[in-house]
Amino acid sequence: MFKRTLNQLINKIPPSNFPTLANWQLRRFISATVENDKFVVVLQSNSQTESSSSSSLAPLKFPSVWLRDNCCCSQCFHPTSKSRKHDWDKFDVNVRVKQLQTNEQTKQLIIDWSDNHRSVYDLKWLQERAFIDARRQEYLNDFYRPKPKHWSGADFDKVTEIFDFHDVINTDEVLKKWLEALAIYGVAIIRNSPIEKTVVRQLAERVGFIRRTTYGEEFIVQSKPGAKNVAYLSDPLPLHTDLPYYEYKPSCNILHCMVQSKSVGGSNLLVDAFHIADCMRADYPEDYKILTQTLVDWNDIGSEDDKHFHNIWRAPVICLDNDGNYTRINHSIPQRDSHFSVPLDAVIPWYEAYAKFVRLAREDAHSFKTKPGDVLTFNNIRLLHGRTGYDDTEENVRYIVGAYLDWDIIYSKLRVLKTQAAGF
Ligand SMILES: [Zn+2]
Repeated sequence: MFKRTLNQLINKIPPSNFPTLANWQLRRFISATVENDKFVVVLQSNSQTESSSSSSLAPLKFPSVWLRDNCCCSQCFHPTSKSRKHDWDKFDVNVRVKQLQTNEQTKQLIIDWSDNHRSVYDLKWLQERAFIDARRQEYLNDFYRPKPKHWSGADFDKVTEIFDFHDVINTDEVLKKWLEALAIYGVAIIRNSPIEKTVVRQLAERVGFIRRTTYGEEFIVQSKPGAKNVAYLSDPLPLHTDLPYYEYKPSCNILHCMVQSKSVGGSNLLVDAFHIADCMRADYPEDYKILTQTLVDWNDIGSEDDKHFHNIWRAPVICLDNDGNYTRINHSIPQRDSHFSVPLDAVIPWYEAYAKFVRLAREDAHSFKTKPGDVLTFNNIRLLHGRTGYDDTEENVRYIVGAYLDWDIIYSKLRVLKTQAAGF
């Protein structure tokens, strides 16, 4: 009987937006029961409505061990650091509920435990942490990390949002929108920035701090004789991700155009490599598998400011997480080592698969030219970028200042902004 009721109730899960709690309505009746000695089920209903028709919210089911572990009292939890502090050496994973109460007025659940501890939980707090699928997905795709939407080159103008530099610097709401656009589409353009070398630093510090690399904090992309990196030549720069040779690859590029080449070249090329991976998975599943499984040696050898470096990181072209979602794309023709530390039989199939990936990316690349004052920001672990060749003279010098931000820092700022906007 209870099971049937449970299924009926689950179908009534209301849509909501974590962490906005405006949709959270305090209900008249709360009750709680223990199930199988291991779970606590909280039931909420608002049966005293004007129409007198009883309606219920989805029951919230929590493992007892999780509830005890997450007790919010001052013995178990340090409120200032928002950290658990109870002694896990003494923690009983088989802890049981001795007594269960609910308080209608305070909307709280009160549990007396078998270890003689008492815990009090706000219903609102429990609701936010419900193990229901829909609630977990909402938390993961909205608050944890916005879910990426993949796009093809033809949709570039549709998906690329434009922001005003001064709005990003002065308004938290615009800052949040910029970072959300970056997280979802992997690209956004900021316009009307001053022609000053500090622009990339101002933007990075608005979010957090610049991610330093072998090449320093800010870097200048300009044609220069005797270049130590292919990006510093005026030749065409084929599609690539930056710094694939780092295990902790800098996440996000900020490229500030101060002077643009007046020659026909110097256009940016961008591709959503998550979309290319989708195409590979659909059209060439065997090749896709090879690109997700074959470890490639990415490298960079050189020196900067008389400091020598020799970076190597081995990783597939398409990296996946436990759920099969893309976590990172690696692609750079110049920064692929001649050491290819895989079994002999794996080499030729990998080349065949890689050639398909490179061709699909080239065919899908969107070309556009930034103007002085434009800041192109994009996800370096997702998008491939490149540049068409250009012909500079002394009076016509393309000059771009760049810096990196890391996703840890971007996501953190985004959560802070969302929490502030929600009024917490
Ligand atoms: Zn406690």
